[in-house]
Amino acid sequence: MVMAKNLEKIVKCPGCQGPSVYAPSNVYRPFCSARCKGVDLGAWASEEFRLPAVDKPDDMQLEHGPIH
Ligand SMILES: [Zn+2]
Repeated sequence: MVMAKNLEKIVKCPGCQGPSVYAPSNVYRPFCSARCKGVDLGAWASEEFRLPAVDKPDDMQLEHGPIH
């Protein structure tokens, strides 16, 4: 019986929620890729800022709705 050295472990990527290899070979761990590692820090904040500016359902409804 041969015990394989199982150094690799699959974890959930915090960026895309997909499978990520948690091993020394994956320098982006616990993320699955460089993109996810950047997304988690960068787009995270920028999207929070973008949301209130792009989505203004209340303002649109007020102007579109029957005033008076
Ligand atoms: Zn990912």
